[in-house]
Amino acid sequence: MKCLYCGCLESKVIDSRTSEDGETIRRRRECLECGKRFSTYEKVEGVSLAVIKKDGSRQPFDRNKLIMGLMRACEKRPIGIKQLEKVVDSVENKIYEMQRREITSEEIGDLILTRLRDIDAVAYVRFASVYREFKDIQSFFDELQSIINDNTVID
Ligand SMILES: [Zn+2]
Repeated sequence: MKCLYCGCLESKVIDSRTSEDGETIRRRRECLECGKRFSTYEKVEGVSLAVIKKDGSRQPFDRNKLIMGLMRACEKRPIGIKQLEKVVDSVENKIYEMQRREITSEEIGDLILTRLRDIDAVAYVRFASVYREFKDIQSFFDELQSIINDNTVID
């Protein structure tokens, strides 16, 4: 399992835990290269995650679709595909961690946005404009304002 931080392929398992329903195994790993720790989740094949869309219909979770959506939002931004894959990995892990079998597309959008916000403000706003479907120009400005305020604090 590839290390999230340095990409090294060697890691050792330091802890394994089965979820209560017995369908997921969480493994805590330590990278042999950089020593950082990360978790991986193993799932019994066939246990699927459904995404509930706005109209109430369900679709199987499709990580490629998420990556495509992110690539569109990150067009002409200095963000590599590896970084986007990390975002999706992290979102996927988070969903399994919550032990959810169904999740709404809005929840997925929010999980992505939380992570994207730290990476690139432009990509964040683009992605947010698609996922949140800003009702009016004011809510769009409010979102922008909150990013600007955040950046001011950091500076
Ligand atoms: Zn590493």
